[in-house]
Amino acid sequence: MSVKSPAEYVESLRDGRRVMFRGAWVPDVTEHPVLRKAIDHAAIDYRLAEEEPTRELFTAEVAGERVSRFYKVPTSAEDLLLRMRAIETATAEGRTVVTLIHEIGTDALFALLRVAAACDKARGTAYLPRVEALLRRARAEDWALSVAQTDSKGDRAKGPSGQADPDQYLRIVERRADGIVVRGAKLHTSVSVNSNAMIVLPTRAMRTGEEDYAVSFWLPVATPGLKLIASPFLSGRRSPIEHPLSAEHKMVESFTWFDDVFVPWEQVFLAGEVDYAGPLALSFVDFHRFTAVSYKLPLVDLLVGSAGLMAQLNGIAGAGHVRDKLGSLAMYAATVRRLLEASALLGRMEDPGVFVPDTLTVNTAKYHFAHGFHEALRDVQDIAGGLLVTAPAWDDFASEDVGPALHKYLRGATGDAEERLRALYLVTDLAVGDLSGYHEVLAVHAEGSLEAEKLAATRHFDLAGTVRLARRLAGIGD
Ligand SMILES: Cc1cc2nc3c(=O)[nH]c(=O)nc-3n(C[C@H](O)[C@H](O)[C@H](O)COP(=O)(O)OP(=O)(O)OC[C@H]3O[C@@H](n4cnc5c(N)ncnc54)[C@H](O)[C@@H]3O)c2cc1C
Repeated sequence: MSVKSPAEYVESLRDGRRVMFRGAWVPDVTEHPVLRKAIDHAAIDYRLAEEEPTRELFTAEVAGERVSRFYKVPTSAEDLLLRMRAIETATAEGRTVVTLIHEIGTDALFALLRVAAACDKARGTAYLPRVEALLRRARAEDWALSVAQTDSKGDRAKGPSGQADPDQYLRIVERRADGIVVRGAKLHTSVSVNSNAMIVLPTRAMRTGEEDYAVSFWLPVATPGLKLIASPFLSGRRSPIEHPLSAEHKMVESFTWFDDVFVPWEQVFLAGEVDYAGPLALSFVDFHRFTAVSYKLPLVDLLVGSAGLMAQLNGIAGAGHVRDKLGSLAMYAATVRRLLEASALLGRMEDPGVFVPDTLTVNTAKYHFAHGFHEALRDVQDIAGGLLVTAPAWDDFASEDVGPALHKYLRGATGDAEERLRALYLVTDLAVGDLSGYHEVLAVHAEGSLEAEKLAATRHFDLAGTVRLARRLAGIGD
């Protein structure tokens, strides 16, 4: 069986990688208090693949071997739905924080299979065997993978070749007989510090003259010249009672600096074929937005559940405006889930045998989630009340001087102040504090901005068909 244990995963990260945290190089990420939290969080994927009752869901049979479910290339709607359930289950176990170490990398691999096949067919390149070789190796060794796509981008109004500084998009600075040398910075790279290997993709479409920017490859994280500057967001110590979600769970992103990194040709998937940079970027997001919405499911369910719980504890469950808000939250959560399921059911088979979620539906799902998220938080905050930011600390309950008064005055409708405070702490962590801020920015930007989703969805909407309908009903013909 090619599935790593959590301990083997931790051990695999001791490889001399260059990671900086708050201005200091980290000698061993597994010994670092903040990074170790992210590692233990990510190890959930390996634990669930090992233990019952989740083993069946988190593994799959491929070529006679039991492997991580995430490495099974989807060939049907059923495969996508099982992938969705696995991502949802791991994220629920991670208390709304996604593990991502298998999801994002396999999203990139599935996209690379499609685009390498098309490029090889049209251009006579030989990229597909390299992608397949990486897939086999990563699957056999059950690698944790990160994906570096988003460039620093400089002036957003200009493309790669229009920038004053040519390094604002990752580029090839040297082509050698044995490989390429790349330079640039990719931003926001999730799980890079705790993955075994990284896949690099172009951010956007490229045009003639931008050949050096049309580049894709993979590399081990411990490759010389690859430097990861870890984000310290959400890294403070926190109490498990006052922060029931974020005390034990976090993901780490990095500023990912390619300080003239050599990549052997066997690891290169695109090097100058400008026509394929755009399709690769877009193909990745077809899969990655499916992953994104899958890991939002526990989050939106928890928004509904915590609002319902606070309504009970505050004694307002029967109030008209509260029922209205709970109804909106429930419909929001249900729409996100059903759109995602529909995107799997409406999916299509593409060369070389990859089942792809329906682009219009999956982008609509991600957009609907992101667009409604802040409003949903507002409803949860409204129902819970101001104690979200003014509640006493948990330690105050133990005080002989004030504990009895806290029990008397904070009990709400059901009579148990400690229970109500625990529920409030949950909502604060979920909808008010820095984890909430993280989820808010993640909703708007990660896996692409709202505009990117709207653009992708409208590109696949039959606008011409609807205009024809309007013309016909207006009696003005074609
Ligand atoms: C928590 C988190 C995790 C992430 N993980 C990863 C990861 O693992 N790997 C990875 O590669 N990326 C990752 N991302 C990056 C994510 O995909 C980007 O944040 C997203 O694509 C937006 O890019 P940006 O942050 O550079 O913002 P910008 O692109 O600068 O966007 C800011 C605003 O400018 C607008 N804008 C940008 N360009 C134009 C233009 N030309 N014309 C008009 N408007 C424009 C946008 O629509 C937006 O409103 C992550 C992001 C977050 C927040």
